[in-house]
Amino acid sequence: MEKSYLDETPQEEVYPDYHHTLKIAKPGRDYVECAICGRKGYICMEESNIRYTWP
Ligand SMILES: [Zn+2]
Repeated sequence: MEKSYLDETPQEEVYPDYHHTLKIAKPGRDYVECAICGRKGYICMEESNIRYTWP
C-alpha cells in the first residue's frame, strides 16, 4: 500500500502518529477521522491553513 505524502498537512504540523494524515471527513461533522485507526481529529482554521488536532 502506497503512502501519500501529498496531504495538505505541512510536515511540521503532522501529529507524531503520522498516519493520522489520512483523514476521513464526514458531511455535517466538524471533525475528521483517521482513515487507519479511526481517531477523531478536530479541524481548526489558522490563517489560511487548515490544521487538525488529535486530542
Ligand atoms: Zn490514526
